[in-house]
Amino acid sequence: MFTKILIANRGEIACRVAATARRLGIKTVAVYSEADANALHVASCDEAILIGPAPAKESYLCGERIIAAARETGAQAIHPGYGFLSENAEFAEACVAAGLVFIGPPASAMRAMGSKSAAKTLMEQADVPLVPGYHGEQQDPDFLQAQADRIGYPVLLKASAGGGGKGMRVVDSAAQFKEALASCKREAISSFGNDQVLAEKYLQRPRHIEIQVFADTHGNCLYLFERDCSVQRRHQKVLEEAPAPNMPPERRAAMGEAAVAAARAVGYVGAGTVEFIANQDGSFYFMEMNTRLQVEHPVTEMITGTDLVEWQLRVAAGEPLPKTQEQLAIHGHAIEARIYAENPDKGFLPSIGTLRHLGTPASVMFELGGDAKAPAPVRIDAGVRAGDAISPFYDPMIAKLIVWGANRQQALARMAQALSQYQVVGLTTNVAFLKRLVQSTAFASADLDTGLIERNHDTLFTAAHAAPAAALALACAALMASEQAQAASEGRHRGDPWSSATGWRLNQPYLRALSFSDEFDYTVHLSYRADGWLFSMGHATGTEGSNSSSGSSDRDKDKNSADGDAPAAQLLHLSAHHGDDYAIRLGEQTVHGVVRRDDDVLHVFTGGAHYQLAYHDPMAHAGEAELDTGRLTAPMPGKVVAVLAAKGQQVKRGEALVIMEAMKMEHTIAAPHDGVIEEVLYAVGDQVADGAPLLAFRA
Ligand code: ADP
Ligand code: ADP
Ligand code: MG
Repeated sequence: MFTKILIANRGEIACRVAATARRLGIKTVAVYSEADANALHVASCDEAILIGPAPAKESYLCGERIIAAARETGAQAIHPGYGFLSENAEFAEACVAAGLVFIGPPASAMRAMGSKSAAKTLMEQADVPLVPGYHGEQQDPDFLQAQADRIGYPVLLKASAGGGGKGMRVVDSAAQFKEALASCKREAISSFGNDQVLAEKYLQRPRHIEIQVFADTHGNCLYLFERDCSVQRRHQKVLEEAPAPNMPPERRAAMGEAAVAAARAVGYVGAGTVEFIANQDGSFYFMEMNTRLQVEHPVTEMITGTDLVEWQLRVAAGEPLPKTQEQLAIHGHAIEARIYAENPDKGFLPSIGTLRHLGTPASVMFELGGDAKAPAPVRIDAGVRAGDAISPFYDPMIAKLIVWGANRQQALARMAQALSQYQVVGLTTNVAFLKRLVQSTAFASADLDTGLIERNHDTLFTAAHAAPAAALALACAALMASEQAQAASEGRHRGDPWSSATGWRLNQPYLRALSFSDEFDYTVHLSYRADGWLFSMGHATGTEGSNSSSGSSDRDKDKNSADGDAPAAQLLHLSAHHGDDYAIRLGEQTVHGVVRRDDDVLHVFTGGAHYQLAYHDPMAHAGEAELDTGRLTAPMPGKVVAVLAAKGQQVKRGEALVIMEAMKMEHTIAAPHDGVIEEVLYAVGDQVADGAPLLAFRA
């Protein structure tokens, strides 16, 4: 076995690999970019080497520098993680040429599977079933259109060299074909430097079911069952689970054997995943093989009691697979949720910024090799801590939350609970969305297909609800406590503010009106009492949402006032607070919650929900007026890929004006209302900073 390895990655996967190495007594070397000098993965390894500036092309994708770092530190092998160089055959060869072991398959197997088109040709020869389509070399648009017509619409276009859902376009009719092809090729060349595409029949209501395979250098090859990754958005996985619900043992064996045949056909070694697309009737077709460890590998580890990184290290060191097919069995059920810094209500637009507060459910980071029969119920694989930033340079994943249960129902309940305990301040996240998703009837009843999110749009993207009185009462209690603490520290008052009448009267008006807002406006009246405050709330009223300049959300915020009558005044009493943790009594109710203040916003976490209440302090910002500059700004730093509007042009509300690429996604900036373009400030290819005005616009 190796004594020292280098981990050529960052974030959670680098931390994950380091955890297993540590357990096995193997020393680790981290590599990092200038943006990651203080990153968790650097702290997780024994040594760390700076390899370049923030952009991945100049650091994590720079194979030469990584190999030099390995030689310099005396590492014997390189673990590539996923993404970055993990599926780069030249890098695997360069490692071997430098006398290092690449912890992954041989370059020849990566090449064979690297192009989706070439892989399909090989699979055809190995009798693995394929979706009807065209995956040949000919790329003439008219020829491809004829192929699409033959396949029959809807047709799916994919970048042959693609990954991460990029470049993929669904074409519903012949009329849309050419435009979709151009757009697919544009994204393919910019993401993968190769614009070859393939066309497939676009299946209706399919499931994504993938098989984890493993092979060693002694000729053994086996499968560690399946994962169902049907719950997706933009063809990217959101929830993953193992085993797949409603999978008859015979089909499991058939898919497992097909996957092993696929791996054997390319002389595979190490961890790999064979992805299948399956019809509701169970018929399945080869989609692609990912020649690396997969993001969602923890669900397989949980149900099989294995540590797949340990297996990777053993196989790379020349050892045989630790188990045989017969020794593997499924135990219980595991579900993974990918927690992302993104805004589900704005077309899943990534969010960047600093994690000012991070509260997580009780969990283990990663500990395996223990008791396979009793995995930890909650596991979190994270690459960031409170205080760290999600930058525009890398994937905006915050963490993977993985739960295990004796059965699916128990796993689901644990997932919902764990999500309720996840608290993030500083960035928009998908946590509330994930919670609605795991609690939706469709997911709970395992009515799975890749369109689940779109099909259940109305329940998953619910209109905003007014915050309950309890959340506002917690916000008030936190404000009062902090004002009081401040007064005390300024020496104007001593003793417990909540039991002292004099303190309050000296510093505060006897009766106060506090105003807060989220999608609604709230006014709370507090009047002082010896044992607390008399709390009463006016009607919450909806506010006009600001025009969103980006994203594809068509969701209309509920602009009506909150239901019901304003509640009568209730007594509010602060029972206890420890740091950000508050316990209050509101009338007959006892309420617990966490309140974090971030500038003017009070983040209230209570009852499993997160309320973001902007506090309008009458003393601050007096006289400031909102300015409408009539400009459309970049939602994040990125590159302009298309300018669709010209100076002087009349445009309609919602018309696409500029397309930007940022964080590996295209973002369309649309007109907020009807108007005229006064100036276009950037051209195709320009880099733009976060918040930069892109166009001057007159309504
Ligand atoms: P999986 O099937 O394991 O989810 P994906 O294809 O979504 O695999 O990619 C896995 C990870 O690899 C993603 O989370 C992403 O960060 C990274 N990745 C995918 N494509 C690219 C790319 N072109 N460049 C860099 N990283 C990528
Ligand atoms: P990537 O390399 O981006 O992971 P895949 O070929 O694995 O690309 O496809 C990603 C996702 O797109 C699948 O998980 C599935 O949801 C959807 N998809 C792929 N092929 C088809 C198809 N022929 N019909 C319907 N959906 C498909
Ligand atoms: Mg895939």
